[in-house]
Amino acid sequence: MSKIIDGNKISTKILKNLKKEISELKTKYRKVPHLSVILVGDNPASQVYVNIKKKRSQEIGMEFSLYKYPENVSEKVLIKTIKKLNKDKKINGIIVQLPLPKHLNERKILDEISLEKDVDGLTTKNLGALFSGTPYFIPCTPAGIIELIKSTRKNITGKKAVIIGRSNIVGKPLSILLLNENCTVTICHSKTANLEKEIKQADILIAAIGKPEFIKGKWIKKDAIVIDVGINRIKDNSLPKGYKLVGDIEFTTAQKKASFITPVPGGVGPMTVTMLLRNTVKSFKKKLI
Ligand code: NAD
Repeated sequence: MSKIIDGNKISTKILKNLKKEISELKTKYRKVPHLSVILVGDNPASQVYVNIKKKRSQEIGMEFSLYKYPENVSEKVLIKTIKKLNKDKKINGIIVQLPLPKHLNERKILDEISLEKDVDGLTTKNLGALFSGTPYFIPCTPAGIIELIKSTRKNITGKKAVIIGRSNIVGKPLSILLLNENCTVTICHSKTANLEKEIKQADILIAAIGKPEFIKGKWIKKDAIVIDVGINRIKDNSLPKGYKLVGDIEFTTAQKKASFITPVPGGVGPMTVTMLLRNTVKSFKKKLI
């Protein structure tokens, strides 16, 4: 039976340190880091994620502001808001909650965020900096995954890491971070010829697909480190909310094979928020230099 990598516990520890750091910065400079979030439409999952970001930032003494727009907002309006926030000296971090409605050009909008305030690390400039070996802000979910893997204290040099999913948010930047940790990295996707065969060779497996329990426990290599990024809502009328959350990996069977495994919820999710707040504090401190 594998050990659970407790993302909540690891996050709480990092948040506690950030809270202390913010309190010290406040005493010294009489100001605190400020995160601004742009939210478009009524996607229930996005609302939940934004509320968590707000709650956590306020808990550690950070300022938080929300810019909420209806589903049919124009690119022009969003870009105007970002330009205003870029110029505002009190704002240290700007994020656009994804996904955006289909009529909006996500790349164009994200790329309006200035490099210095791109605390999600998703602008072309930030991703380019990461790929060329001079990272500025590391994208939050991949940064959190690296922290979770490191928490196992296993030496991962030379290990075979298999990432399922090639998104700009998770798979692609994570591949660079794992290369930097000296892993041999494979990225799989919807057109991969033999997914099961690739997974069977993985010393470290990371799934970021968005399909409930798609990866079966029997495919997992014995003693692998398993990180489940997927967050999928499954209907369950016995629960008050009417749904439960599951990952991309069949947890109960995978747990029997892996040495370490992240749960859903309580694994990667809390780390993503924590890395966002860590980047915002970093942005604040960079401005002081
Ligand atoms: P995405 O939708 O942009 O990409 C999904 C990827 O899965 C694609 O690269 C696709 O090629 C791959 N894929 C789809 N079907 C496949 C198949 N049959 N076999 C192999 N690969 C397949 O996804 P994303 O934005 O990276 O998110 C993936 C999942 O991770 C979602 O469930 C999302 O909610 C979750 N997520 C969680 C966090 C977190 O903080 N925990 C952060 C980001 C994303």
